[in-house]
Amino acid sequence: MRRHSLQKLMPEYIKNFEAYTPSKPDAELAKIYNCKKIYRLNNNENFLGPPAAAIEVIRKFDPKRAALYPSGDSLYLRFKLAQKFHKDPDQFLVGNGANEVIGFTLKAFCEQGDNIITADKTFAVYEWTAVFSGIEARLAPLKNFDLDDEGMLKLMDARTKIIFICNPNNPTGTYWNSQKLRQFIQKVDGRAVIVVDEAYHEFVEKEDYPDSMSLINEYPNLVTFRTFSKMYGLAGLRIGYLAGNHEIVDIIRRTCIVYSVNTLAQDAALIAVDDDGHVMATRRLVKEGKAFLTDELAKIGLPYQCGEGNYLMVKLPIDDGLAYRKLMTSGVMVRTMTGFRFPNYIRVTISSPEAMEALIAGLVKIV
Ligand SMILES: *Cc1c(COP(=O)(O)O)cnc(C)c1O
Repeated sequence: MRRHSLQKLMPEYIKNFEAYTPSKPDAELAKIYNCKKIYRLNNNENFLGPPAAAIEVIRKFDPKRAALYPSGDSLYLRFKLAQKFHKDPDQFLVGNGANEVIGFTLKAFCEQGDNIITADKTFAVYEWTAVFSGIEARLAPLKNFDLDDEGMLKLMDARTKIIFICNPNNPTGTYWNSQKLRQFIQKVDGRAVIVVDEAYHEFVEKEDYPDSMSLINEYPNLVTFRTFSKMYGLAGLRIGYLAGNHEIVDIIRRTCIVYSVNTLAQDAALIAVDDDGHVMATRRLVKEGKAFLTDELAKIGLPYQCGEGNYLMVKLPIDDGLAYRKLMTSGVMVRTMTGFRFPNYIRVTISSPEAMEALIAGLVKIV
């Protein structure tokens, strides 16, 4: 057999791309770090879990339906979203998490030689999906922790197909207000698709935060991303969606993987969107958690970056990888940020009071 033949088959951009390493399951981590309980503060999950009605739907799921393919286009969920947001069902595309709709959008608009624009320190999946698809990712550096609108516009050229705006930005919590978003859309002037990723939309407290979905009928090149993973506590079922004007959704639909969204996820999401009480309770938890954490961090003397969303970043005086391992010995799991171009920062999810206290206790030991 010939050696190295696979290497020859690989495109250059795959050769240079390093696979993402996901965290190990709790039981494995408990063995490695010798801790009993693990507080997962690395993925911005909702400590309160799914809304009560969604829990009921999951519990009562008829196992026989596991043998049948799901609705291939999440029909009832799209009806529901249309009703909730006063749109047409055909203005929505549901995916296996918002992560999947990133891929759909990229495939629909980008070919070799094209580029996308995003920030250097933002949700990394836009950049990664572009790069491992052989598409150039142009990164505008943040300005004061915020996405730089002018910087992004300067990177545009005739081959720019998509601009990804994470609003509010993960991990910095900064956001563009209505005026800034609208001005940006007007300056792009239809030359590229603008994606506004609103994964944390339901957490935002600020009054001038724009609802980009209310702008999609006005701007045919605008797409909104939302997910059920964060506020609605369904991260394990993998379901998210995009919304846009009919024409753009019709284009992106061509690249959709049919049947990628499972039946249970569709059922749970359908009922979850109605639960405003869950949203209120989660927002209260996040508000109280942020107040506690920012107070305590100030007392310890650790700088932090806290804005919208259910997370904040802490700047450490030591290597974040080392801090991760030290915190894990107390069962506190955080996100190290060096790999996301924030050296010696960690990002933590705002979770239960108990978890927040464990985090502070762990940090006190470090500093
Ligand atoms: C978590 C997250 C997503 C991905 O959500 P899934 O629906 O779980 O794939 C997308 N964008 C941002 C900014 C996120 O933080």
